[in-house]
Amino acid sequence: MPELPEVETIARGLAPLVTEKRIEDALVLYPAIVGGDAAAFRQKVKGRRILGVRRRGKLLILGLEGDVHLAIHLRMTGRVTVHPHDEERDKHTHVLLVLEGGEDLVFNDQRKFGRCLALTGQELALWPFYARLGPEPLEIGPEEFVQCFQGRGGRIKGLLLDQELLAGIGNIYADESLFRARIHPAASGRSLGRGELLTLYSSLREVLGEALQEGGSSFRDYVNALGRRGGFQERFAVYSRKGLSCTCCRCRLETVRVAGRTSTYCPVCQPSKQQAVSSKQQAE
Ligand SMILES: [Zn+2]
Repeated sequence: MPELPEVETIARGLAPLVTEKRIEDALVLYPAIVGGDAAAFRQKVKGRRILGVRRRGKLLILGLEGDVHLAIHLRMTGRVTVHPHDEERDKHTHVLLVLEGGEDLVFNDQRKFGRCLALTGQELALWPFYARLGPEPLEIGPEEFVQCFQGRGGRIKGLLLDQELLAGIGNIYADESLFRARIHPAASGRSLGRGELLTLYSSLREVLGEALQEGGSSFRDYVNALGRRGGFQERFAVYSRKGLSCTCCRCRLETVRVAGRTSTYCPVCQPSKQQAVSSKQQAE
């Protein structure tokens, strides 16, 4: 699933291609993607100019004139790309916006879990998913980050994935940042001290910054607005590397199920708190 760096990369790539372009028409081939009512969607977006493209959490948001916002959630396999109008359509194309100038903005989604909603500013603000999004990890300060997690019940991996605590983090960047911070994914939020949380804060921002520089991670389906793959998957330290050796200590990487998701981690670099205590006792 595209996370913060992937959606941000799409937004940055899309902005120069679509900003100031008018949407001449909207074709909806699979109405569930636009929330069910294809005619209402078309009526809301047709004829409006695109004013800008931004990201909030994992949402891609196109601001249209007249206070209409296209909120796009790519979920598992969604893609947003720009193509010449006469190009042959992929069979997974579900929404197609005909832009002035001869190009189409295409929403394509093999598994159809994605959404492309046309909302007024008020509807967007009242949309619970949007309204409850937590702060942006690249925008908050270290103290705010510590306050987000300190003393909180639940496993740290699950807390990082909670979009209401922090917006934009998914499995890839949670696993990578926990590895870099040397924190076990199943550690409880309560067990982590201020120092560990500050380390996690810097690790998460480092990982996100590097992934942004690489244009995101193309583990499965993700491509940017120009259809190009990202490069950060080449630099994964743990994600998708179960059974391979740790880049730091050469030990074999393992997985653990936390908050319903598989987490890959290094049992040596990221010992659980119990392990750490018992090996310390053994040493004594
Ligand atoms: Zn290791």
